[in-house]
Amino acid sequence: MLNNQLILYSTTLNAPLPTIPQLINTLQTLQFIAQPYSSSQQLNYQVGEQFLNLITFLGCSPVIHTDPTHSDPATLCYLTLYPPFQTPLFLKSPHLKHFRCPHCRHSSQHWSSLLQAWEQDKLHFHYTCPHCQTTLPPQQLNWRHQAAFTRLILLIHNLYEGEAVPNDSLMTHLKQHTHNDWDYFYTQHLSTQLPNPPFTE
Ligand SMILES: [Zn+2]
Repeated sequence: MLNNQLILYSTTLNAPLPTIPQLINTLQTLQFIAQPYSSSQQLNYQVGEQFLNLITFLGCSPVIHTDPTHSDPATLCYLTLYPPFQTPLFLKSPHLKHFRCPHCRHSSQHWSSLLQAWEQDKLHFHYTCPHCQTTLPPQQLNWRHQAAFTRLILLIHNLYEGEAVPNDSLMTHLKQHTHNDWDYFYTQHLSTQLPNPPFTE
């Protein structure tokens, strides 16, 4: 069964991140998340009252299941927070094919060789566009909402690409409250790529 996921992520790699309690406080203040499911699932949250106003739904009348007591877990829309990663991770959609230079829009499919070079020196590696010679860190390339370089993510289950987009109000509030820049991408089964399981104590 596919678990389509919309991931909000901090693009801040070299500066302080919000702590998990700070992030929870911000998200609850926005009413983007409500309460955790249970004491045994501390980082899984039901959607908050403003969730449907902070995500723009595309198309006509999408059916979003948000009630954990009445929804099939396979379709339930809920959120999972993860502890910040010790070092930046590259996370991607299985559909990632190419990325673009943000200056000249040159497209490249060689993301795996870029990744190998980045792994050697995550904080200092810069990519040079073969077309316009612009040099920039890989997180500033255009990954077309299909990949991320990040140390902090917020995972929203069972929303998929083409269905839902975080709106400007949400992204602006996140930036203001956490002093981090945020972006988003779409994937499936992201948890298989993550080193740290959510807290379950
Ligand atoms: Zn370029």
